[in-house]
Amino acid sequence: MCGIIGLVKRQGDAVGDVYEGLKRLEYRGYDSAGIASLSGGAIDVFKRKGGVDSLLGGIGNLRGRVAMGHTRWATHGEPSDVNAHPHVAGKIAIVHNGIIENHRALTKELESGGYAFLSDTDSEAIAALIDFYYRESGDLLRAVASAVNRLQGSFSLCVMCADFEGLIAVRYKSSQAIGFAPYGVFVASDIPALPPSSREIFLPDDGTITLTDGLKTQAYDFSLNPKKCVRRAISHGQWSADKGGYPHFMLKEIEEAERTVKDTVDGITRCGCMKKCAEILGGARDIIITGCGTAYNSGLAALPYFEHVGA
Ligand code: GLU
Repeated sequence: MCGIIGLVKRQGDAVGDVYEGLKRLEYRGYDSAGIASLSGGAIDVFKRKGGVDSLLGGIGNLRGRVAMGHTRWATHGEPSDVNAHPHVAGKIAIVHNGIIENHRALTKELESGGYAFLSDTDSEAIAALIDFYYRESGDLLRAVASAVNRLQGSFSLCVMCADFEGLIAVRYKSSQAIGFAPYGVFVASDIPALPPSSREIFLPDDGTITLTDGLKTQAYDFSLNPKKCVRRAISHGQWSADKGGYPHFMLKEIEEAERTVKDTVDGITRCGCMKKCAEILGGARDIIITGCGTAYNSGLAALPYFEHVGA
């Protein structure tokens, strides 16, 4: 699991806001981090192995009302400066949360078209693929759509282009929230990453491309048919993710595990849901358990119990 955050500000510098967003996202990944900014048609990137704090030595030089950042929990390629996101190819920069299952085939294809890859990540292929289609058509939105239609796996993306003063977000099988603040539009992995000033959110469903220039925001499906961008009001108190006095999130999760399990079981038992669930599951032909990260492993651990009961 990684965290992505992007901001298109109406005016002023977005880099500090993106850094603050990364601090809020650190619970999603903390092996490396990076920020890209766009100013005067140039993309600048600073990225480092280590926690979000490790960016403080380099982001002072980044400027721009468009910026995006990433905090990584590696799936492909060790934690290192070069494997950290954002990844850049030509005029395109991306940050990615998820896994690209066909990245080897794509990398090979792009290498034979002249692209050179610097990192060991699956994500770098996305930047190169979008750049490839952008060179071909000169149409950024169409290039993003062409590229994402070729990706297999899961991806929540934020895409920056040197020629466009805005951002493009893409969501497929990975979480994403778009936040609207009076001063600009955020793209984030989840709601707790958004600042309290973003009082309205749009939650794109799977297969959505969202384009924003900070003033106008439009959503599309992967065939570029316009989609409704339904905004709803949000109160941030209920979503806050903080370390509660622990030095880092992993320790907090470990220490809180017993209480969390108890609270969950109590909640389900109290509302009578457990009985209802047992009835529904008892009559089911197939049971599909879905999950990502720790939830995926919990699903695997639960599997034998369901099989045992069903047998
Ligand atoms: N697969 C990407 C990488 O390893 C993103 C990781 C993630 O989302 O957890 O850099």
